[in-house]
Amino acid sequence: MVDTQLVPRGISDVRVLEAMRSVPRHLFVPDAIIDSAYADMAMPIGENQTISQPYMVAIMTELLGLKGYEKVLEIGTGSGYQAAVLAALAKEVHTIERIPALSVRAASKFRAIGLDNIFAHVGDGTLGLPENAPFDGIIITAATPDIPAPLIEQLKDGGIMVVPVGERYSQVLIKATKRNNTLLKEYHTPCVFVPLIGEFGWNG
Ligand code: SAH
Repeated sequence: MVDTQLVPRGISDVRVLEAMRSVPRHLFVPDAIIDSAYADMAMPIGENQTISQPYMVAIMTELLGLKGYEKVLEIGTGSGYQAAVLAALAKEVHTIERIPALSVRAASKFRAIGLDNIFAHVGDGTLGLPENAPFDGIIITAATPDIPAPLIEQLKDGGIMVVPVGERYSQVLIKATKRNNTLLKEYHTPCVFVPLIGEFGWNG
């Protein structure tokens, strides 16, 4: 997966490549599709949700520029795979999921592979996690019409947010760096994520 899908498309952060070699993606997909766990695509994980394509996980992670000391917030736990990759690269990861069954399942995977620096929360991630803020990095793994204001507030000055912003069925991946309370935005690859549903996202 790393050598055929990530390196040829330009993923070059050696720590990201190493993390994606080491996190067992097959543990995070349903048993019925375990044979395709490392395939070059997003896949269904139940509850109408998906695990992102490996390349999308890699580029989003690379854009966060993690060095190892960071506290990171993920919105949209889903399968838990992205959170597991982040946990291999940062000090502490908080991940929020609105569907309790997915959160519980992901948390059991984190325990199974001994990741004790991920904290799984259930709730509306568009509100962030004020009790654990501020964060060095925030990643939203669902599509949003706009960057939710509470998340901007909970990002440290100098912190980085990676988020797919756009229409319901097509978005652009944005890397936003917070400087003096404004966001400096860089536009990256087009993408398609399931919707972020919540107070500062889409209505159910
Ligand atoms: N990061 C995941 C993929 C996530 S798919 C992985 O690695 O597998 C997007 C997830 O966002 C879905 O599970 C969906 O239920 C969740 N979601 C959507 N809106 C949300 C919200 N407001 N708060 C938290 N989670 C949300």
